[in-house]
Amino acid sequence: MSRVLAAVAWPYANGPRHIGHVSGFGVPSDVFSRYMRMAGHDVLMVSGTDEHGTPIQVQADAEGVTPRELVDRYNRVIVEDLHGLGLSYDLFTRTTTGNHYQVVQELFQGLHDNGYIIAKTTLGAISPSTGRTLPDRYIEGTCPICGYDSARGDQCDNCGNQLDPDQLINPRSKINGETPEFVETEHFFLDLPAFADQLSAWLDTRDGWRPNVLKFSRNLIDDLQPRAITRDLEWGVPIPLDGWRDRDDKRIYVWFDAVIGYLSASIEWARRSGDPDAWRKWWQDPEAQGYYFMGKDNIVFHSVIWPSILLGYSSPKAGSLGALNLPTEVVSSEYLTMEGRKFSSSRRVVIYVRDFLERYDADALRYFIAVAGPESNDTDFTWAEFRRRNNDELVAGWGNLVNRSISMAAKNFGEIPAVGELTAEDERLLAAVRAGFDSVGQLLGKHRQKAAITEAMRIVGEVNKYFSDQAPWKLKEDKARMGTVLYVALQAVRDCNTLLTPFLPHSAQKIHELLGGTGVHAPMPEIVEVEDLDNGRTYPVLKGDYTVGAKWEHVAIELGTPLAAPTPVFRKLDESIVEEELARLQS
Ligand SMILES: [Zn+2]
Repeated sequence: MSRVLAAVAWPYANGPRHIGHVSGFGVPSDVFSRYMRMAGHDVLMVSGTDEHGTPIQVQADAEGVTPRELVDRYNRVIVEDLHGLGLSYDLFTRTTTGNHYQVVQELFQGLHDNGYIIAKTTLGAISPSTGRTLPDRYIEGTCPICGYDSARGDQCDNCGNQLDPDQLINPRSKINGETPEFVETEHFFLDLPAFADQLSAWLDTRDGWRPNVLKFSRNLIDDLQPRAITRDLEWGVPIPLDGWRDRDDKRIYVWFDAVIGYLSASIEWARRSGDPDAWRKWWQDPEAQGYYFMGKDNIVFHSVIWPSILLGYSSPKAGSLGALNLPTEVVSSEYLTMEGRKFSSSRRVVIYVRDFLERYDADALRYFIAVAGPESNDTDFTWAEFRRRNNDELVAGWGNLVNRSISMAAKNFGEIPAVGELTAEDERLLAAVRAGFDSVGQLLGKHRQKAAITEAMRIVGEVNKYFSDQAPWKLKEDKARMGTVLYVALQAVRDCNTLLTPFLPHSAQKIHELLGGTGVHAPMPEIVEVEDLDNGRTYPVLKGDYTVGAKWEHVAIELGTPLAAPTPVFRKLDESIVEEELARLQS
């Protein structure tokens, strides 16, 4: 048994999340956490909504609401969507809690005390009307190199050159069209080059990472620059230094505060558990493991910036929380596209999680993401392929096996039938299914979920073949042999259901009950309204009791357990859904 931290990327609270987002971090982290818990590990799975930064401020201004009103709205939407997918967070919280502010300020202070935060005066773009930092990508102008008139402040999309915003000819704000002012402004920088050697040595010890993630991370270390970690903005965590603490025009930059959320959410979870130090077992025990789940655009934050923060806080003199563990592995996925195009809310190339779950079952999406998601390559979601996978594999493969074995046993015996002498084929099938606990489990432990579910479905295919070969419906004259075949099939279904539980928890619970099981097989998260531990505001969190439920092991079915005629667990999708969904995309 080991302690396993599942640190899941923080969705940004400026709108509802689409299925591309949850395929990169949400579902894979849940499959992993569910498997590790079933295999006996002590898992802490944490995340929350990322709620600060200029994009939130800009969108709130555009809607005429405060940033807090905006993030309150989308925090709730995102909590409900992740709940609908059955993602088993021990705590899904948010970055606007009093606890998060304290932890962020503590880490900032610790890094500052150790000399890793340096003040610098730079030339920054400011919106003259608001006094706020205008980030590079919010500035547009004519490219000084190729003359393209919509170059961004960070790069020109026409000629591809990297730019600085003050190089643009006729720069203007993309928010309101005004001309930015370039003024001297004092900011704090994280001294990333100071960590280059330690980061490099750490990466050298990392076995088993996805090769593209490791390669990308190494390249980042070759070219480290100090990075600004404060902004001219009023929406964010205040800077905890004398002379800065009470200023309302300077805040800690959102990416610095958001990565600290993994730690602050663990601390919040511990404070809510009644043992405020419980988080230390996942962050300070050298044996504890930490896995970080995200899409590839966030690798830099997890393999460079977050480890630098952890190193700089922990030495030479550890801050008051004590020295903190580095990640065991950065588990990054690639991108999901939609019908060959990039997801885009503005161009309506999108399906939001909520809309998806209104029309389809959560497990149908979870299945698609596991078997065809962007685990180590960019992959494309198409409605035709979604329907095909659902109908041919989930319904015709797994669902049909469950349905025909249980319904035949229910009709002919009304219970799990007695077993006679087992033939060589019976024994061979039962052994093949039981071998799945090793083969599927090993793949899941190595984040090879696509191979793991493919292996589980291969075993389902073997059981289907056994069922067809033995043809119990032809054994009406030999009830004893019919009972034995159905017993073997039901035992195989029972074990296959366990193998599929991390991927398909909702249907696994139903199948458990169809087999006469009672109680919780696959525990589910719940939404709980809680009071902020420090400031009395209330907000919804996701949490759950995941100590209950199935273990990753063979369990013998019990003879004589009453069986009723089953209702179908999976829904077949009509051909018309493909056209309907494509029409929605283009409307
Ligand atoms: Zn250009």
